[in-house]
Amino acid sequence: DATDAPGRFRGPLDVLHDIFGYQAFRPGQSEIIDLLCGGTSTLAVMPTGAGKSLCYQIPAILSERATVVISPLVALIDDQAAALRANGVNVAAIHSGLSRERNVEEWRDFAAGRSKLLYLSPERLMTPRMLAAMGRIGPGLFVIDEAHCISKWGPSFRPEYEQLAALGQHFPNATIAAFTATADSATRVDIADKLFHGHGRTIVHGFDRPNLQLGVQPKTNWRRQLMEFLNGKEGLSGIVYCLSRRLTEEVADYLCEEGVKAIAYHAGQPSDQRRESQDRFMSEDGVVMVATIAFGMGIDKPDIRFVCHLNLPGSMEAYYQEIGRAGRDGQPAETLMLYGLDDIRMQRQFIENDGEDGEHKLREHKRLDALLAYCEASGCRRQSLLAYFDDTTGPCGNCDNCLHPPKVVDGTGEARALFQAIAATGQFFGASHIIDILRGGETQKISERGHDKLDVFGIGKARPKDFWQGFIRQAVSGGYLVINIQKYGCLELTPRADAVMAGQEIFAIREEALMPRAKSKRGGE
Ligand code: ADP
Ligand code: ZN
Repeated sequence: DATDAPGRFRGPLDVLHDIFGYQAFRPGQSEIIDLLCGGTSTLAVMPTGAGKSLCYQIPAILSERATVVISPLVALIDDQAAALRANGVNVAAIHSGLSRERNVEEWRDFAAGRSKLLYLSPERLMTPRMLAAMGRIGPGLFVIDEAHCISKWGPSFRPEYEQLAALGQHFPNATIAAFTATADSATRVDIADKLFHGHGRTIVHGFDRPNLQLGVQPKTNWRRQLMEFLNGKEGLSGIVYCLSRRLTEEVADYLCEEGVKAIAYHAGQPSDQRRESQDRFMSEDGVVMVATIAFGMGIDKPDIRFVCHLNLPGSMEAYYQEIGRAGRDGQPAETLMLYGLDDIRMQRQFIENDGEDGEHKLREHKRLDALLAYCEASGCRRQSLLAYFDDTTGPCGNCDNCLHPPKVVDGTGEARALFQAIAATGQFFGASHIIDILRGGETQKISERGHDKLDVFGIGKARPKDFWQGFIRQAVSGGYLVINIQKYGCLELTPRADAVMAGQEIFAIREEALMPRAKSKRGGE
C-alpha cells in the first residue's frame, strides 16, 4: 500500500511518476509543492484544470503527518477521493451525503492512520467536538479548496468558511494551503490575511492560455460580426454566449437560416431537451451551442474551437472561465467578445438590483470597470487579461491588438462637445437624447425642454449616430463618463471629463471603434 510506506519516495517527482503516472510538473506545481513540504502556508491561485489537486496531494503523500482537505462540494469530494483511491492512495471522506455509520467508519480509518488524507466539509471541522478530536491527531497540513468562499470580497462568500480564519489558532503547528481559481487581488489579500495572519505566500500561476486567440469588438451589427467570425469555422464545435434566453433562440434561428448547425440552450428548457442538445454537442461535429451561461459547467469537451460572446460577460472572472472552455486540447481556438452600451447599462442594472449592501455594489461596479477597461485596451489583450489575475506575459502576438495594432487618434474636440452637452443639460439624460442634441435632432423632447437653444445643439451633426455611440462607449469605458442606473441610466461626468473640458487632459481614442466597419442603415446620412 503506497501510503503506508513513508520514505519509499525520494521526492515529489517520484510520487508524480509512480502514483499519478505523469511525466512532468505543470507550471507552478513544483513551486507550490516545495513550499508546502517545507512548511510554508501558501495561497495558490490557478485556473480550473491547471492541476491544483496534485499540489496538495503530493505533499500529503510525502508527509508523515495527516492531511485534512476542506472542500465545500460533496460531488467534488467524492470525485477526488475516488481518483486517489484509483491510484492506490487510502483516503477518508466525511460529508452529509454519507450515512452516519459510514462517516463513523471513515473517521476511524483516519484516526487510526489507515488513511492519511481526510476530506471534510467546513462546517463539520469547526465544531468543538471535531476540533478536539482533530487536536489529538495533529494534522500537519490543512488544505482549503475553493478558498475564495472565505472572503466577502469574492463572488461566492460562504459564512461557514469564515470560521476557518480561526484554523491557525487551533492548529499553530500545521501548514495551511489554500486554493482558488477565481480571486482578484483584493480577494487574495483578504484570503491571506484571514488564513495566514501575515505569514504565508501567495502564488499565481497558469492563467496564460496561449492557444486562445483573444478578440473584442464594439457591437455594431451582431449578425454580420458573428457571421464574419464563423466564416471558415464550418464543421467545428463552438459556443455563442448570450445574456438572455430570448436572444439564444433568436440567434440560433438566425444561424440555422444561414446554414449553421446551431442549437439554443438555456435553463428555461425542459431538462431532457437540454440533455439531448448536450449529447449532440458532444458527439456531432460542427454543432454551435447558442447558450446562456447555464451552459458550460461540467462540459468537458476538449475540442471546442471557438467561443463568442454576443453580450458583455458578468466579470473578468466569468469571461476568463467562459472563453477557457475553448481549446482544452491545447490546439488553437478563437474567441470574440462583442459589447455595446446596452450591455454596460444592463450589467450595471444587475448589480443595482441584486439586493446587496452599498459597499458590495461598489465593489461589483469596480469589477465591471475592470472588464470595460479590458474591452477598450489598445495594447496586448493577453497582457491586460493576465494583469487582472496578477499573472504576466510578453506581448502575445495572438490577440486582435497584437495582430492588428489599433490606431489611436485625438478625440479631444469631440469629447469637449459631448461633455458640454451633458453638463449643459444637468447630467440628467441618457445617451440617445445627448446624441440627438449633438446631431441637431428635431425630437419633441428637445423642443419641449428648449435644448435646441443650447450652444452645442447640432455641433456634432457631421458625425453619424454610430460614431457618437462608439464615442460615448469609449468615454464610459475610459472612466470619463458614468452611467447612473439609479437615475434611469443618465450620463454623468467624472473628474477626468472635467480635466478634458478644462484643457488639462487630451482624449485619445481608438480610431477603428469610431468607424465601425458595419454601417447601420442610418449611418452616414
Ligand atoms: P484543478 O483542481 O486545478 O481544476 P485538477 O487538479 O482537477 O485541476 O487537474 C486537472 C487535470 O489535469 C486532472 O485530470 C489531472 O490529473 C491533470 N494533471 C494535473 N497535473 C498534471 C501533470 N503534471 N501532468 C499531467 N496531467 C496533470
Ligand atoms: Zn496580444
